[in-house]
Amino acid sequence: MTETEFSEWLKHHATCFPSLSKWIEGLPAEPPAGVPSRREVMSQWFATLRDVDFELAKAASNMLHNGEEEEPYGWDRVPAKIRTIARKLRRSRPDSARLPVEAKAAYACEACRDEGRRSVWRPEAMAAASPQRFAEAELHDPTSGDPRPRVIGEPFTLYRMSTACPCPAGDRFRRNSATFDPGRMLECWHMDRAEQQELIEFMAKRERPEATAGHLEASGAEFQ
Ligand SMILES: [Zn+2]
Repeated sequence: MTETEFSEWLKHHATCFPSLSKWIEGLPAEPPAGVPSRREVMSQWFATLRDVDFELAKAASNMLHNGEEEEPYGWDRVPAKIRTIARKLRRSRPDSARLPVEAKAAYACEACRDEGRRSVWRPEAMAAASPQRFAEAELHDPTSGDPRPRVIGEPFTLYRMSTACPCPAGDRFRRNSATFDPGRMLECWHMDRAEQQELIEFMAKRERPEATAGHLEASGAEFQ
């Protein structure tokens, strides 16, 4: 689903379960450091549901509402539950296997699905995944009294942000967001183990210019 469809699904789910709106409103808009904001929580929900088909997500909400599926315990578990039900539905409906192909053809820019936005790791997360940080953490002296530098995956290292896609759909976000640059940024949606590993490899390559120099020379780009 696209981000617009996600908003629509969220509204539909809140129609089935009205107390969800209250829970969302209760999440802080501008929280103190270390506490996730409403926007961050919702963007995590979207990340979990991004590759779920919109219609199947709505059907999943209906099944929770009408009791065909058991409601998860706690709002935090809703995205995972919707995802699981939607997958089940996809498997049980042979014609729905064609959905992704049709959806693909409908986007001018497959990378952002015409939403104009690309989610990338924030600089703090990139620093936490750099070889230098791993070395610092390794060499840390516990008797020094200083906190050990955190490496990616540890608390307060998992942050992502939205950038504008280089395609025309990204134009409306360009004034307030950086434009996605595949040389300097790495896309991420789930911040899970696999994506953390990707980031570690991305940072290792970035900090070893000799490994990429040949390629960059060939393309005429300057290494930064
Ligand atoms: Zn795009």
